Amino acid sequence: MKPEEILKKRWGYDTFKPLQKEAIEAALSGRDCLVVLPTGGGKSLCYQLPAAMGKGLVLVVSPLIALMDDQVAAAREAGLAADALHSNLKAGPKKEVYANLNNGTTELLYVSPERLLTGDLYGTIAPRVILAAVDEAHCVSHWGHEFRPEYRRLTEALDLFPKAARMALTATATPIVQEDIRTQLALRSPEILIGHPDRPNLVYRAFPRRDQLKQVLEVVRAHKGEGGIVYAQTRKDVERLAAGLKKDGVSSAPYHAGLNAEDRRKAQDDFVNERLDVIVATIAFGMGIDRSNVRYVVHANTPRSVEHYQQESGRAGRDGLPADCTLFFSAADLATHRWMAKKEMLSAERLRALEKQLRDIGRFAVAPVCRHSQLAGHFSAPYPVEPQAEEGCGACDVCLGETRGLSDEEARLTAKKVLSAAWRAEGRYGTGYVVNLLLGRINDRMTANGHDQMKVFGLLKEAGEPAVRSWIDQLIVQDYLEVTEDNEYPLLRITAGGRALCQDKGTVRLGLPMPPKAGKKKAKVFKKAEKAGLDFQEADRDLFEKLRALRRSVADKAGIPPYVICHDTVLIEMASTKPQTPEALLAIKGMGDKRVQKYGQLFLDAIAGRLELPQS
Ligand code: ADP
Ligand code: ZN
Repeated sequence: MKPEEILKKRWGYDTFKPLQKEAIEAALSGRDCLVVLPTGGGKSLCYQLPAAMGKGLVLVVSPLIALMDDQVAAAREAGLAADALHSNLKAGPKKEVYANLNNGTTELLYVSPERLLTGDLYGTIAPRVILAAVDEAHCVSHWGHEFRPEYRRLTEALDLFPKAARMALTATATPIVQEDIRTQLALRSPEILIGHPDRPNLVYRAFPRRDQLKQVLEVVRAHKGEGGIVYAQTRKDVERLAAGLKKDGVSSAPYHAGLNAEDRRKAQDDFVNERLDVIVATIAFGMGIDRSNVRYVVHANTPRSVEHYQQESGRAGRDGLPADCTLFFSAADLATHRWMAKKEMLSAERLRALEKQLRDIGRFAVAPVCRHSQLAGHFSAPYPVEPQAEEGCGACDVCLGETRGLSDEEARLTAKKVLSAAWRAEGRYGTGYVVNLLLGRINDRMTANGHDQMKVFGLLKEAGEPAVRSWIDQLIVQDYLEVTEDNEYPLLRITAGGRALCQDKGTVRLGLPMPPKAGKKKAKVFKKAEKAGLDFQEADRDLFEKLRALRRSVADKAGIPPYVICHDTVLIEMASTKPQTPEALLAIKGMGDKRVQKYGQLFLDAIAGRLELPQS
C-alpha cells in the first residue's frame, strides 16, 4: 500500500499535513532528516506511518517516559504493533515486549535514551531497524530550553544501527538549536524540513496585569467545563490562584515542585484523564502533557522568554480546534526572573542571554503589534504565512481591536509626559509615586516634596491608573525607563534613551487595552466546525457532551487517556453528521479501521439513542 492509503486506512485522514509526506518519503528511502514542526503539526505520524508499512522496525527515542505508555496506546489505537521499553516497566510486561521483539511482530518501539544506551537491544533488533527517530531532539542542545545530558551520548547508540535512517524531530525553531541537533546526532546529509511555526488556531492575547486573580478568573469562567492550564511564576502565586479558583467552584489543582511526587502525579493524571478541568502550575508542569483538548492557557505572570511562551502556550489546541492563550504582563515579573536567576548563579554569558530574553518577551507582551506576526518574526519566519493573505490575523488582541495602538504622534506625546514625570522625580522614587504624580493624587509626601506644584502633576489624570501603569511598563521594556535598586527599594529612573526621546530623538510605540465589548461569548470550537461545513444545532452540542462523557468512561475502563481514543474533532463531526453505519463512521476524519472495529458499535448506539449515557 502507498503511504496515502495507509494514512486513510489506519488514521482516517485524507491528506498529509505540511511536510509529513516529505519526512515519510525520506525515511522510506533511507535518508536522514530533521523535522521541525510546531506542536500539533503531526510529528508522530512522520515515524508512525513508516512503521505501518511493514518494511521493518521503527525505533523512537523519547525522553518523556511518562508519556510513552500513552503514545504506545495511541499507536495501538491506529492498529500498530507498538511497545515501549523504559526503566518503569514491570517484569511481566517487559517479558512480553521482549517476546514481541524476538518473534518479530513489533512494528514500533519507543525507548528511553538510558535504555537504548545500555546496549542489550542491538543483537535482537539491529538488522530489522529501518528508522531511528529521535523525538524532542532539542534536548540534545544546551541552547535549547530542556537540555538532557544523556541525549549527548545518543549518537553512540545510533551508530549501532548504521543502516537505519535517522529522523530528528522537534518543535523548536531557532537555527542554533537546529544546527546543534544536526551535529550532535551526526545526521548524514539530512533533508531539512522546517515547517512554519505559526499556530493559526491559537488566539493570542497580552494584557497588562492589574488584578491577577480577577483577570485569571475572567478567562477561566469564559471556558467553563473546558480543559485549561494557568501558569504562574512562583509557588506562592500558584497556591494563591489555585485557592481562588477552588473558591470559585472551578475543578482545579495546583502543581509545583514543592508538592510531593504523589500529589503531582495525581494532579497530572486527573488532568490528562479529564477528571480535572484546570491545572495551576509553575513551569514544572507541561513536559509530558499531551491532552489534546486543552482549550486555553493563561499566563498569570510573564514567562522567562519568547521560547518558553511559545512552548507553554503551545500546549493549547493540539487538536487543531481554536484555543485561547492569554498573557497578563507586568514589568515586575521581569525583575522576579532576574532575582531568581541570581539565585541560580548563572554565568555572565547566560545572564546576558537572559537579559535579551527578558527584553524580547517584554516587547512581545506590550508592543501593540499583531501577536502572531511578532511570534513568527521571533522565529525568523515570514508573516502572514501565505504572502497573499489579507492583513491582520483575526486571532490576537491587536487584530481583534481589544488592544489599540496609539498613533505615532499620540504615543510620543504620551511617552514624553510619563518620561518627564520620571525625570522630574530624579530617580529617587518608586513606580507608585510616579503614577500618583501623573494622576495628580495628593499625599503628604507629595506635598512635602512640593511635587504637587510641578507642571507634570496630574498630567495624565484623564487616562486612569491602569493605562498609566501599563505605559510605564511599556516604556521600561523599550529601555526608556529603568528600575534600579537602592537599598532593596526599586526606583524608577529615566534612561539616556528616555531623555533623548523627550527631545524628539527616537521612536516609541504605545498601546492601550480597550474595555471589553459587552456581548456574549461565542463557542469558537463549534464556530470552526461550522466553517468546515458542519451544521450545528443546539441538540448537537448536547450530543457532543454526551459523547465526550462516553469517551471518558471507555477510557477510564481501558486505563488510557480519553484523547487516545479519539480527538474532540471526531466527536464534533459525529454529533453533527450523526452516522448510522460503520461505513459512515469510517468516513469521519481521524477514525480509521481499528477504531471503528473497537468502538464503532458503542458510538453508533449512543448516537441512535440506544445507549444509556453516563451523565456528562
Ligand atoms: P505533534 O507531535 O507535532 O505535536 P501530533 O503528532 O500529536 O503533533 O499530532 C497532532 C494532531 O494532528 C493529532 O491529533 C493527530 O492525530 C493529527 N494529525 C496528524 N496527521 C494528520 C493529518 N495528516 N491530517 C489530519 N490530522 C492529522
Ligand atoms: Zn494579529
